[in-house]
Amino acid sequence: MNHRIAVLDEAVYKRIAAGEVVVNPAAVVKELMENSMDAGATAITVEIAQGGKELIRVTDNGVGIIAEDVPLAIQKHATSKISTLDDLDKIGTLGFRGEALSSIAAVSRLTIQTRTADSTEGTVLFISGEQGPEVSSAGLAEGTTVKVENLFYNIPARMKFLKNTARETVNVTSVVSKLIFANPHISIKYISNGKVIYHSPGDGSLQNAIIAVYGKDIAHKLTEADHAFGEIRVHGLLSQPTFLYKSTNYLCFFLNGRYVQSKNLQSAVLRGYGERLLRGHYPFSVLHIDLPLNRADINVHPGKLQVMLYDETDVLDAIEKTVRSALEINSAPPVLSLTE
Ligand code: ADP
Ligand code: MG
Repeated sequence: MNHRIAVLDEAVYKRIAAGEVVVNPAAVVKELMENSMDAGATAITVEIAQGGKELIRVTDNGVGIIAEDVPLAIQKHATSKISTLDDLDKIGTLGFRGEALSSIAAVSRLTIQTRTADSTEGTVLFISGEQGPEVSSAGLAEGTTVKVENLFYNIPARMKFLKNTARETVNVTSVVSKLIFANPHISIKYISNGKVIYHSPGDGSLQNAIIAVYGKDIAHKLTEADHAFGEIRVHGLLSQPTFLYKSTNYLCFFLNGRYVQSKNLQSAVLRGYGERLLRGHYPFSVLHIDLPLNRADINVHPGKLQVMLYDETDVLDAIEKTVRSALEINSAPPVLSLTE
């Protein structure tokens, strides 16, 4: 080292940057599924092998990418979702940074197959850490399939850092389940090592989305909540105080359809339950919070699990009141009709 400053080589920079977005197979699955959702897919299939370390494949029936744009999809800061600074204040898509595919391409063997409705032929692009991009045409179904093989094959240190297959599978499964709850209107099929783990119907019912993940028994124990306070709407399903867990893992929140983590939101739910909770026990709840897009800043971190709310007190208040009134109205466990 000669203590002189120089701008990093593109290849070096890309690999460093990739590490921020793509930390494990679950992060890749999240980025790919969110791309499918932004593409307007109504059906998404997610397949993984060996916890996603060997293979991740996400197939959708969304709008696809026109042939000319396919090489752009893997360039960093290339996106179809925003274009101006103003757009940043009202992001209505899950992606907007234009860095997921370029990052994934830098640390794996990536294949994109895609066709739009207007085009008779599809486009296939292959790129790996040291090879490509190679682009060709092929007869393909409408929509997009993104295949990620051998994640981190060219970064041994990262590869070593990955957990064992069982652990990585659990992480992927957890991401998929959150995305199923976030999108009851999308049919999501999740396959691990050839076995179907979840298959949500995509009929718009949050209850059926929860059943697809947790099974039918849980549905009997949930109560519906739906309340609007001005521009804030809180809706979802929550458990009766007789049905509790010993961890806060079963409290999940979706802000404008985006899975978010927040201790403050959790506390608001617990305040809504108040005295009804046994000490050390926590409910199950899946709550969607819908606000005008410009009332939240989601541009906080590439992982995007945190958000900043401009009227957090109002939102917390809305959650607490929604929970309390749902529990009051339904003080006896309701009988919900199940679809077979
Ligand atoms: P971002 O989602 O932030 O725009 P990505 O790197 O994830 O960045 O994707 C780059 C671009 O590739 C997207 O803006 C979109 O135009 C296109 N794209 C990626 N995945 C899909 C998909 N499944 N269907 C249609 N277009 C896609
Ligand atoms: Mg994206």
